[in-house]
Amino acid sequence: MHSHLHGEIIQRLIKEFQFVEQGEYLRKGICPYCKKRELFTSIEKPYVLRCGRENKCGSEVIVKAHYDDLFSHWSERYLPTTKQPHAAAEAYLREGRGLDMALIAGCYTQESYHQKGLGTGRCVFPCPAAHTGSA
Ligand SMILES: [Zn+2]
Repeated sequence: MHSHLHGEIIQRLIKEFQFVEQGEYLRKGICPYCKKRELFTSIEKPYVLRCGRENKCGSEVIVKAHYDDLFSHWSERYLPTTKQPHAAAEAYLREGRGLDMALIAGCYTQESYHQKGLGTGRCVFPCPAAHTGSA
């Protein structure tokens, strides 16, 4: 995880759980279950928040689920522009999946479709790895 999304997650975590940065970790966060300042997570990979009171609490907070809004609604957060018509698809792939865009640039398009009146976006990969030529 890196870049823009990562910074936003760290900021939110510090604000919400009152974490203190210590080396490579966020520590002393307030556990939402036992209310003790035992919550910690890795700064580099803030995927799961864990309560340090393993035997008495041991709760976990899945960051991706907790900040669901950060990981969804890509189409709304990254509106397509003339320069970047696939902004939302790129953002999703780059930040949601951590793919190196250089490797797959040009291999996808962003399509919109409507379902029950709600517009949304999805990523489409039109070029398969294997080009099946007639033998
Ligand atoms: Zn706890």
